[in-house]
Amino acid sequence: MSVLCPFCEGQGEVYRVVVKQTSETIYLCGECDSVWLTENIGEDNATNFEDYMSEQGFEPLWSELDYIEKL
Ligand SMILES: [Zn+2]
Repeated sequence: MSVLCPFCEGQGEVYRVVVKQTSETIYLCGECDSVWLTENIGEDNATNFEDYMSEQGFEPLWSELDYIEKL
């Protein structure tokens, strides 16, 4: 069973990915680019991919990610 994004109304599947530059594991919605830092996928603890990457000085691109798999 896959985990679905709470913002995408049953559409967005959440992927476990690794940021290549930091080797950090994050959780990313394939539809709306919401990001979670833990497997606890909720509405009140999400950030978004663009903010998360730009805060660290990286481009918000899926090509910056590795080990993409469905959660
Ligand atoms: Zn989503």
